[in-house]
Amino acid sequence: MQRPRGYDPQPFDLPPIFQSPPKPVAMLRWIVTEFMWPQSLLWIGLAAATYHLVTPGLDRFASLGVDDIAILWARNVGLMLLLIGGQHWWLHMRKAQGTQFKYEGRWLAKGRKSFTFDDQTRDNMFWTLVSGGLVAAFYEAIMFRLYAGGALPQLDALWAIGAMTFAVFWIEGVHFYLNHRLLHLDPLYGWFHALHHRNVNTGPWSGISMHPGEHLLYFSLPFVFLLLPGSPFIITFCCVYLMISPSPSHSGFDRFVVSEGTNVHGGDYFHNLHHRYFEVNYGMLLVPLDKWFGTLHDGSLEAHERMKDRRRASVHAADSAMPDTNDRTTP
Ligand SMILES: [Zn+2]
Ligand SMILES: [Zn+2]
Repeated sequence: MQRPRGYDPQPFDLPPIFQSPPKPVAMLRWIVTEFMWPQSLLWIGLAAATYHLVTPGLDRFASLGVDDIAILWARNVGLMLLLIGGQHWWLHMRKAQGTQFKYEGRWLAKGRKSFTFDDQTRDNMFWTLVSGGLVAAFYEAIMFRLYAGGALPQLDALWAIGAMTFAVFWIEGVHFYLNHRLLHLDPLYGWFHALHHRNVNTGPWSGISMHPGEHLLYFSLPFVFLLLPGSPFIITFCCVYLMISPSPSHSGFDRFVVSEGTNVHGGDYFHNLHHRYFEVNYGMLLVPLDKWFGTLHDGSLEAHERMKDRRRASVHAADSAMPDTNDRTTP
């Protein structure tokens, strides 16, 4: 099936520290002006508001009950309806910027049997709110229980909490690559990850539209703090970041139009290429494991040819079930 052409951004570069020769000053500039601002700082601010305004105090978790998990789940559902639903409404219902900066020319699928309820948006909302919101709440509650009972030491200096919060972005870069790479192996792919890959043309609700088996792996990031020093806030940050940040990255739009002639960074072209081509870009640009393991696709023709060579070299890869809507011969 011919895929309607959408918006193709320019091929991207690796972060400066990972270029050769490494450029530390340029890397610092990249972190501040491209990585942190605006999205990453937004996730930290959102987590701080969530933790201080709508999360019960730690005392409550000294004895963990079903109601404690239910409260965190309700909080997660509220956050996601507001923030992911808001993006869906603005971009895909109101169509506020039409198809400007949209990776695919077509809109989200309706009446397609491959989706739960035969509808991509309902399918994505169901798996996100029911499974994703619940698994995140469950893991957050377990970690709160351990902190409340004194089983884990807590960082208390603000600078230390800030530094570790910042480190979470890199830790997640490795954690996500490892669990995602695992999920692309048989039979885990068929059992769990195929559900996320129903979405070739993605929307905000596609971000964590995953099988519960994938959610159990994906949301396991807070358990890193069984080994590393952390704090209850950092646990909430992990959960909020994992729940909300995939919504702009899967929004389907490379940039969000703010006003006439002004637009800001929106989607994640790196991960969009994973949804298109399936066996590239398993990780995140921040920690370029894909570069080191030879699966990087930077959107260039050269990277596309390298990917096709790899496929030709591997009968297994050539037999992999590439969705027909994914058929695209030039990047
Ligand atoms: Zn995948
Ligand atoms: Zn995805």
